[in-house]
Amino acid sequence: MTDFSHQALAINQAADAILKHKVNSLQVIPAVAIKLLRLTHDENTDVGDLSMLIETEPTLTAKVLRNVNSAAFALAHKITSIKQAVSILGFSAVRQLALNQLFYNKLIDHKSKQQFDQLFFWQHCLFVASLSRAIATALKHPDVDLIYTAGLMHDIGKIVLETHGKVSYSDFILACKNDEQPTLLGEHDLFGLNHAEMGYTFCQQWDIPEQISAIVYCHHELPDDNSPFAIYKRDIAIVHFANYIAWMQGIGSIALNNSPELHAETSKYLAIEKPDLESLLNHVDQEMQHTREFYGIQFPNINRLRAALVQTTLLLSTHNKRNSIAERRTDNISITSLTTPHKSLISSEIVPWTLAVMQKDFAFERLVMLDINPKQRSLTTTYTWPESVDKNSLQAFNIKLDELPSTILNSLRERNAIIINTNNDKNRTILRQFDVEEFLIIPVLSLNRLVALLYADKHKTKTPITDNCIEQINPIIHELGVALANAKRFELEKKRAELDPLTGLLNKRMVTDFLTQTFALKPEQLSKVAIGFIDIDYFKKFNDTCGHQAGDDALKIVAQIMLTLTRPSDFIGRYGGEEFVFILRNTDKQGAYSYAERIRQEIERKGIILSQRFQGHALTVSIGVSLYSPNFSTYQEMVEVADTAMYSAKSDGRNCIKIK
Ligand code: GH3
Ligand code: MG
Ligand code: MG
Repeated sequence: MTDFSHQALAINQAADAILKHKVNSLQVIPAVAIKLLRLTHDENTDVGDLSMLIETEPTLTAKVLRNVNSAAFALAHKITSIKQAVSILGFSAVRQLALNQLFYNKLIDHKSKQQFDQLFFWQHCLFVASLSRAIATALKHPDVDLIYTAGLMHDIGKIVLETHGKVSYSDFILACKNDEQPTLLGEHDLFGLNHAEMGYTFCQQWDIPEQISAIVYCHHELPDDNSPFAIYKRDIAIVHFANYIAWMQGIGSIALNNSPELHAETSKYLAIEKPDLESLLNHVDQEMQHTREFYGIQFPNINRLRAALVQTTLLLSTHNKRNSIAERRTDNISITSLTTPHKSLISSEIVPWTLAVMQKDFAFERLVMLDINPKQRSLTTTYTWPESVDKNSLQAFNIKLDELPSTILNSLRERNAIIINTNNDKNRTILRQFDVEEFLIIPVLSLNRLVALLYADKHKTKTPITDNCIEQINPIIHELGVALANAKRFELEKKRAELDPLTGLLNKRMVTDFLTQTFALKPEQLSKVAIGFIDIDYFKKFNDTCGHQAGDDALKIVAQIMLTLTRPSDFIGRYGGEEFVFILRNTDKQGAYSYAERIRQEIERKGIILSQRFQGHALTVSIGVSLYSPNFSTYQEMVEVADTAMYSAKSDGRNCIKIK
């Protein structure tokens, strides 16, 4: 028996031990999906086989046709049969629709314990599938369809465990919430095998094509050259990379904060620089958007961080390689130091975590992060290791840039780390000021801008800091800079996710968040709150007369007027199509009325000015306001009253205000 068959046997035994039933009796995905999977692999398959297979399931046929006829495909004629769909859209598109539908039904129908979020998981699978295929296409892979399927299935082991494990995947997530241990090892501890191995067993038992099984099995760890799967290394690398990007972007498969590591060899197989990753990701975004619209579901939490994160990934993969050489040369520096900055997208986590691992690697006794304040040309301490550094001693670090000795200023100009010690007379003053004999200063660059200085010393043991140490620290600081740039970008993206893209006002989610916060206010503040709805009159007709583009512009005009006329302490947002919301604090009936009236008048006035463009169609709004009353137990009740008031303004002739 070969090494691998031993291994496979052990995996099978482990699978039998953890599952409630034999693997080959598990209905994890429907039989027709399995057939579809096998179908692709057979080059002789023709349109007839595929149509027949799909048509054996009437509901599946209906759903595939509904999808084909949805707006996303923008077909001129209605398609009425699967055969027709295949001949117009092609074998692979139809097969993919059917597969997605089958997986979706299975996943969403199945009620799992809440730790394992099916929607979130499904979103991950779709993203990985879509990105894998996009990469495969860019690399001119001969079977991009198979890569899509493998991407869709890569985490199937998690589903098997969740639905049929004696211990479920939800149990695992619950148990490992606070673990530092990598997920795969954690799974091994709990289930006796990890999800990749479970997935592999499943694929084996169900006769899934070997290439797909290989990808499922190896998607976390590229096979070595002796593995029977070495021939699929490039295919595996594609899904491995797509999976990694998914996690980096907050589209992981589960809510554990433990992202996969990127294998150092990945870039070798993907020639990653070649495909334009940003456009690939855009393409994937569009596909995901289509899916979301089709199923009418809102995937939970998507943090989109495109180019910057991809850049990081590329850097990381090259660093991993560089680091393996570095590791042989010296055993000081750990891979953890290089990857830690990327474990978060929030600077208040990134910096302290990085300081902590650097301390471990280099045995520094004090680390201080000094932000550069460009306006005041001064340094401010932000983070320290240990966190308990004496606040008084930190005062010494808040100094003007001009007061730094020329040695440090030169190092900043040249953007090089420098050791400051008594060897140079110019350092005497600052050494005395910091009360040390030697320290290290490292400039931190983010997007090529100097953003901070890192101070490090060994003031207690007085161990000398070596030049070699600088050499090893540089790549870590480089990663820190990239991570900080990503964090900034993330902040911006998050902001963007809160805004309605058309009008730039806060979106409905933010409106309801704000309402929730408002209803948590103290009674005396809450009593002065007013909520108002603004709805454009006859807007449907406006769109019909003036066109959708003019309609969009009218929405922007209304939003702009609201922005100009609203105090910063008050809140405005877009609630839906042509409906806006305002929430006023510290107001009474009179105050709310005059605010609403100013808005109503200004919109009417602008409408008259623009009436030429609007083909004589007036632009007016009806406004309904509700004032807080202690009778309201939830904000929804208050919103409803405002809504009713708005409708009574409509029935009262429109272009007016009603207050309840
Ligand atoms: P009423 O005076 O009773 O409010 O009549 P109405 O036509 O304004 O109301 P209705 O709710 O029937 O129509 C709202 C219309 O708003 C339907 C849709 O065409 C339009 N609409 C919604 N969102 C948008 C958008 O983002 N852009 C554009 N251009 N139109 C939109
Ligand atoms: Mg996985
Ligand atoms: Mg309207």
